[in-house]
Amino acid sequence: MLHENLSINEKNHLEIAGVDTVSLAEKYGTPLYVMDEERIRHNARVYINAMKKYMGEISRPLFASKACCFKRLYSIIAEEGMATDLVSPGELYTAKMAGFPLENSYFHGNNKTDADIEFAIDSGVGHFIADNREELDAISRIAGEKGICQKVILRLTPGIDPHTQAKISTGKVDSKFGTAIETGQAMEIVKYTLSLANIELEGFHCHIGSQIFEYESFSDAAEIMLRFIKAVKDECGYEVPVLNLGGGFGVRYVESDPQIDYEANIKGLAGEIKKMCAELGINQPCILMEPGRSIVADSGLTLYTVGSVKTITGYKSYVSIDGGMPDNPRYALYESDYSVLLANKAADKAEITATVAGRCCESGDLIQEDVKLPKAQRGDTMAVLVTGAYNYSMASNYNRLPRPAVVMVKDGESYVAVRRETYEDLCRNDM
Ligand SMILES: *Cc1c(COP(=O)(O)O)cnc(C)c1O
Repeated sequence: MLHENLSINEKNHLEIAGVDTVSLAEKYGTPLYVMDEERIRHNARVYINAMKKYMGEISRPLFASKACCFKRLYSIIAEEGMATDLVSPGELYTAKMAGFPLENSYFHGNNKTDADIEFAIDSGVGHFIADNREELDAISRIAGEKGICQKVILRLTPGIDPHTQAKISTGKVDSKFGTAIETGQAMEIVKYTLSLANIELEGFHCHIGSQIFEYESFSDAAEIMLRFIKAVKDECGYEVPVLNLGGGFGVRYVESDPQIDYEANIKGLAGEIKKMCAELGINQPCILMEPGRSIVADSGLTLYTVGSVKTITGYKSYVSIDGGMPDNPRYALYESDYSVLLANKAADKAEITATVAGRCCESGDLIQEDVKLPKAQRGDTMAVLVTGAYNYSMASNYNRLPRPAVVMVKDGESYVAVRRETYEDLCRNDM
């Protein structure tokens, strides 16, 4: 099947990590997020080991929390010895509550408030990824008040538009993130940073986008960044020790997406970086990467129950499910591709082409269009595959729907990692 943790059992049911998804739907109810713990650990190890092996002992991946964030996930990431990036005080708080070693965290965001900065420093966040001048001033001042020197990485834009969707490509010069190298503003902000008290400039960061399937886009970015490290060395007499290349290799959502060998790509990228450093006459920096989806996406799937099957004569068919854009807004936002199947008729032949619609009062509430399915009926269990990233973390309560539970499977068993929201939860803050 699409990924090796998926299979079909003798009952014609879809299994994930050897656990029957129809039984999970019966036991926990739907909609339900299911995540394969071993798959998350496996993906983390692939990055950790390959980066160590090919990019040097201190190079490492940071899990991009925004892909998926809850306490149990931070425990798993921490157990694997993986560092993390945090983009908000809420993610920081969650990591802290999970007992995540925050010295191994990197605090992102293009507009950190003074309160965020203070909270992060007080919580012992190891590293800041600073976006702009105002933020640097605030970090310097607050670190000064606390009597510490804060390690900072500067976010820069290398001016690269990888061949990916415009909405998720962020390394272009006119991005809202970071400071452009091309315009000369990056060199200015580096000089400014070096002049500030209570800040240690560790290195530079760039993020060229997501769903990148080949390392060549990363090595193009690396080349620009390494040249910049060299330019800073020549002009300021300071060679930064860290280069953060951002996230993240792509993920296979549908059969037509390539299968990607992360280790081979990391090895290829490492070779290019080594060569470029030698040519430029600089030390090879510690390399950081920020994979999000490639750590968690293929560990997950979402289970729904089919409610109705409607054929508009001469037009199209709709299969309606008991979830939708509140638990997976990615089709509504980006028209993202997903693989959809009926978990209780997993190997049955496709007989209909249908649009999978959610239950919201919103005509854009679709999960996928033109899906080939076996004959569907009320009560069938539908599975949407590869939803471990940017589903739970993007979920909302739109239409006042409670967010689904997250259930983890491991060693043939299942356990609740995040409980299903109740109606009381929905009114919790209402006065
Ligand atoms: C979103 C994001 C990531 C993670 O991207 P993936 O595609 O999930 O790997 C990493 N770094 C930054 C700065 C991001 O904005």
